[in-house]
Amino acid sequence: MGRDADCLVRYRIVRVNFIKVNLVKADKVKADKVKTNSVRLAERGLSSMKKILIQGAMPSEIGYYLERDIMAGASAVEKNGCLFYTARDGEAEIVIELTKMGMTNAAAATMTAIYEYHPDFIINQGTAGAHVRGLKRGDIVIGNKAVNVHSIKMEKRGFGEGMSPQDWSGMHTEYIEADQELVRMFENALGAGTQTGRAVTGTLGSGDLFSREKDRILWIHDKFGNLSEDMESFAVYSVCRSCGVPCVALRIISNNELLDEDYDEDTAVELQRVIWNALCNEKEKGKKICRK
Ligand code: SAH
Repeated sequence: MGRDADCLVRYRIVRVNFIKVNLVKADKVKADKVKTNSVRLAERGLSSMKKILIQGAMPSEIGYYLERDIMAGASAVEKNGCLFYTARDGEAEIVIELTKMGMTNAAAATMTAIYEYHPDFIINQGTAGAHVRGLKRGDIVIGNKAVNVHSIKMEKRGFGEGMSPQDWSGMHTEYIEADQELVRMFENALGAGTQTGRAVTGTLGSGDLFSREKDRILWIHDKFGNLSEDMESFAVYSVCRSCGVPCVALRIISNNELLDEDYDEDTAVELQRVIWNALCNEKEKGKKICRK
């Protein structure tokens, strides 16, 4: 290698390391911000929160909220392809967002929500497929963590050598935590169950996929330890962490392929009902009346 090329390589290494150090610093600042916001949530109590943002990917996942008295008259505001509906209740403000389906939509929708509405915290919610036999349609998972189950790497194979999905492995597997105060609030509110099933806490799996192959579902669960599969929650956790905004995702099981329970969109209603009631109860603790 010539002297100039050698210098260039060394310059690049120094520069890359410099960027890496700055990235680590930035991540630390954000992690501290999440912690501070989380402590603030714990100290002030959720009932004193001013702005709550609830997300759903499909109209059926936000319809119940829009039918509440308090939301009457809230009209849709479109921003970056997402729809927002806002209502006030005393000092508090509640924003319902339609994010659209999928990881990229969820990420863009969350960033838009944060920059346009500055929420105190975000609740991402909707339907999901179960990845364990123990969860049935109507059960709810409170996501204390989320993992991208579609982040996979495969061994090299030549033309005509076919595919071997069972040999694929997880790539950059990362578990992002929800705000633990929000997790606790929903654990307390939901107790052991709701009108349609059990409530459990665990890891949500996300990806741009809808798995229906039983063996594949078992494989994903084995690799990632997720209880369910959806298409948004990991993206929301990731953006919220980067922006220092507390968040939690809850998922109601709409299908369990392991039990041959097919997808039922209507399951989305019960989750909205219990989340709404939980928030109303929190507000009542703060002596504000929430019209159910
Ligand atoms: N009516 C839609 C169904 C969409 S299912 C259609 O057929 O086009 C995908 C949506 O529901 C996503 O927003 C995802 O978060 C959630 N979901 C429910 N079950 C899922 C599963 N088994 N895998 C992935 N996403 C699931």
